[in-house]
Amino acid sequence: MKDKLTIALSKGRIFKETVPLLKAAGIEPLDDPETSRKLILDTNHSDVKIVIIRATDVPTYVQYGAADLGVAGKDVLMEHGGQDIYEVLDLKIANCKLMVAGFADRPLPKEHLKVATKFVNCARHYFAGQGRQVDIIKLYGSMELAPLVGLADCIVDLVDTGNTLRANGLEPLEHMADISSRLIVNKASMRLKHERIQTLINHIETAVQAKR
Ligand code: AMP
Repeated sequence: MKDKLTIALSKGRIFKETVPLLKAAGIEPLDDPETSRKLILDTNHSDVKIVIIRATDVPTYVQYGAADLGVAGKDVLMEHGGQDIYEVLDLKIANCKLMVAGFADRPLPKEHLKVATKFVNCARHYFAGQGRQVDIIKLYGSMELAPLVGLADCIVDLVDTGNTLRANGLEPLEHMADISSRLIVNKASMRLKHERIQTLINHIETAVQAKR
């Protein structure tokens, strides 16, 4: 166990943008999750595996040590809480912003603001920090619809170009946080496999800096 490494990644953008960084550290997956249904990918190192899981599950796998390392968006990490996880590196990929969005011409109510979001913990923390009373309505997708049908006054969501908001007559109103993907490490793994993991972090950090 001690010399094995398991890395948790999600399919799509995070996988695609992390592969070149892993390659810089000498690790190459032998399968592509877009074409393979395998959930555990072998790599060019027999003792390094990549597990393919949902983005929101990555911190949980790393927290419990089912994966030693993982890549997760800062939004996912803030929502998870980060227990038993070290956030070791900003990979500067999948950049976007976590924002409050609503109607540009309708001021938000001062009291009992209704906020629709899947980022329940981030939203609660943000509004509590400002002393604003809010009712949080948990949704799992299509947040933009909520203000249009009167379910909420505003939403908390990730914004990249702003096109999705604009297509639905909404505007970004308040900037909550800059988001990018982070390399995370299980705390016990960091202690037990320190040299191996630190070398990997150093290679990835060099690759991130070289891209800038
Ligand atoms: P945009 O229309 O470019 O502002 O993109 C907004 C939509 O894409 C929203 O539905 C977001 O949830 C999603 N999105 C944008 N950037 C990211 C990201 N870095 N990670 C995950 N989802 C994102």
